[in-house]
Amino acid sequence: MNQTAWMESVRAAIEQVLPDRKPFTPLHEPYFAGNEWEYVKSCLDTGWVSSVGEYVTRFGQELAAYTGAKYAIPVVNGTAALQICLLLAGVETGDEVLIPSLSFVATANAVAYCGAIPHFVDSEERSLGIDAAKLERYLTEIAIVEQGECRNRLTGRKIKALVPMHTFGHPVDLDPLLAICDTYNLELIEDAAESLGSSYKGVHTGNFGKLAALSFNGNKVITTGGGGAILTNDEFLAREARHLTTTAKVPHEWAFIHDRVGYNYRLPNLNAALGCAQLEQLPRFLDQKRQLADRYREALRPLAGISFLEEPNYARSNYWLNALVLDRPLAAHRDELLRMLNDAGLMSRPLWEPLHRLPMYDHCPRMPLETAESLAARVVNIPSSPQLMASHTTN
Ligand SMILES: *Cc1c(COP(=O)(O)O)cnc(C)c1O
Repeated sequence: MNQTAWMESVRAAIEQVLPDRKPFTPLHEPYFAGNEWEYVKSCLDTGWVSSVGEYVTRFGQELAAYTGAKYAIPVVNGTAALQICLLLAGVETGDEVLIPSLSFVATANAVAYCGAIPHFVDSEERSLGIDAAKLERYLTEIAIVEQGECRNRLTGRKIKALVPMHTFGHPVDLDPLLAICDTYNLELIEDAAESLGSSYKGVHTGNFGKLAALSFNGNKVITTGGGGAILTNDEFLAREARHLTTTAKVPHEWAFIHDRVGYNYRLPNLNAALGCAQLEQLPRFLDQKRQLADRYREALRPLAGISFLEEPNYARSNYWLNALVLDRPLAAHRDELLRMLNDAGLMSRPLWEPLHRLPMYDHCPRMPLETAESLAARVVNIPSSPQLMASHTTN
């Protein structure tokens, strides 16, 4: 089969899954089919649109209940959530933080906001997340623990934390990463921005490290317009997170006293109202996304040269974004495939440019990144909105 025929067969397989689609099918569209109008209207009617209001409290409580985390603190976006997680984990200026090179730029930016230095780690094919076995071998070579602190022998800097990310909602294998953190005395912070609704060995992601960050950006599983949340099971850290993200204001009836340099990162009530309505629909979105993934898997199964990214056997994934992984010899044809799918109105996107190749991070320390480099050239995301399966659900 020649390349054009192969690409045609990929397009045909995707279209077979989406018989009723509109001429342009976005990658991931927000879906407002519940109480969004009612809750947002009540904010406007009552005037509680900003940083105080019942929906912020309610959204935090409902997120905690859903994820099983003891505390959830809603904030303005996922990047801000991650920044505060790192600060509260004790990341300081000049520290290094281990993060996957295969991630959205926010993971590295949050590290940089703390004055710290991203240290890039390779990924594995199964989950697209951090390769624990490779990381362990690498740390044996470059890291030592001195007086309870992990130090990079090559740079002399402290390595303070590890930030695994659950790519497209597929949980990374956390147990070996937790073991590494134990050995090297690293704090584990989960970038769970893409994994609301995903669990690892039966426990919702975001519960495995000291703190975790969620995102409710417009393209995520649920959206608040823009928004995020900090998850933690530690009462002290929860109180600190709430304080730091509300300008470190000391509670008082009228006085404006702030006891440190805080951040204006609290999620406005208006956005939280949207979040409460979206969260009510999350179980249905997840059912629809799983159905869509099941159909893609079946339709793509007969095709050579391509595999459909599936949840790892230890996990249940939210299937936030469906992904195709091209066999290595086909990497050279990825852009032609993207061109054909997008021209056919099937919005498709490559993986992010690996972070160690971006100009602001190209001097940062890194381990060998063969798999990240290879995957970056071979992964294609295809339309993944839950409403693509709306007409297929009965209730
Ligand atoms: C979306 C996302 C974030 C946070 O994004 P915001 O747009 O700031 O909410 C962080 N990390 C990853 C991997 C993401 O996909």
